[in-house]
Amino acid sequence: MTETAPHPEPPEKLPPGLYIVATPIGNLGDITMRAQDILARCAGVACEDTRVTGKLMKHLGLSKPLWRYDDHSGEKDRARLVDSMQSRAVALVSDAGTPLIADPGYRLVQDAREAGTAVTSIPGPNAITTALTLSGLPNDRFLFAGFLPSKEKARREVLLELAPVRTTLIFYETGPRLTKSLAAIDENLPGREVSVARELTKLFEECRTGTAAGLTDHYTAHPPKGEIVLLIGPPADAETSAKDADDMLRAALETSKASQAAGEVARATGLDRKALYARAMEIRGE
Ligand code: SAM
Repeated sequence: MTETAPHPEPPEKLPPGLYIVATPIGNLGDITMRAQDILARCAGVACEDTRVTGKLMKHLGLSKPLWRYDDHSGEKDRARLVDSMQSRAVALVSDAGTPLIADPGYRLVQDAREAGTAVTSIPGPNAITTALTLSGLPNDRFLFAGFLPSKEKARREVLLELAPVRTTLIFYETGPRLTKSLAAIDENLPGREVSVARELTKLFEECRTGTAAGLTDHYTAHPPKGEIVLLIGPPADAETSAKDADDMLRAALETSKASQAAGEVARATGLDRKALYARAMEIRGE
């Protein structure tokens, strides 16, 4: 008697809803197992550019209907997609990284939620967190502010608005605009530590840290290619005040509980109460 190999079961269909799926930002090996599973089992994929997503699907050996959904998609396109999510699993991807992060999808998620659709997000690659981890800049708090405006006046206004913020600042950037942005940082936020993270996860990945003036010189001499994340370290006094806050916490802990001490120091310094409480607990454990 000959045994026949068991026929592979077709993958089980996913329950209807919207599945927000992060995809690689360069290195295709970064696709998650869950992202592959969702893309294999969904009814179709809403994507920014069907050619870009078509290539990813081909790489994964998958073939699914691809529906264009981008910044130009109107209410009717959204309504059609939301309608189809009531009976089918629709995946949403962008050209690269996490959908909605400087990419389309916000209104689609809003409409889907309003329609009572099941919405879930499959996390994965993202240029912000990849750059932040690589830069060596303080990462306990950070502020992502999208792309810096291309016009000089608007760019200066954004930089001055963010100058007092005591966190690492993160921007998406493009090669042709990098040196102008660096020069504007040098002018408006002098003395800050700056990082340029380029071509993340790709063959020519690079992360260069220095002063804005030094980096302006470097990238003027070596015009940058590829995709870029620009990071600006917090103002120096944030570090001083972290040390001051530590001293203040120690003093307050002599007479108060950790929560009270954190509250007092938060009120006095404007620093984050939760972070101060965590630090107060650490100090008490020392
Ligand atoms: N949704 C994406 C994400 O999760 O990171 C970002 C999309 S946004 C339209 C594209 C910008 O992200 C690029 O201009 C660049 O600033 C940044 N970016 C994307 N991939 C990158 C990479 N591999 N290296 C550096 N920056 C990248």
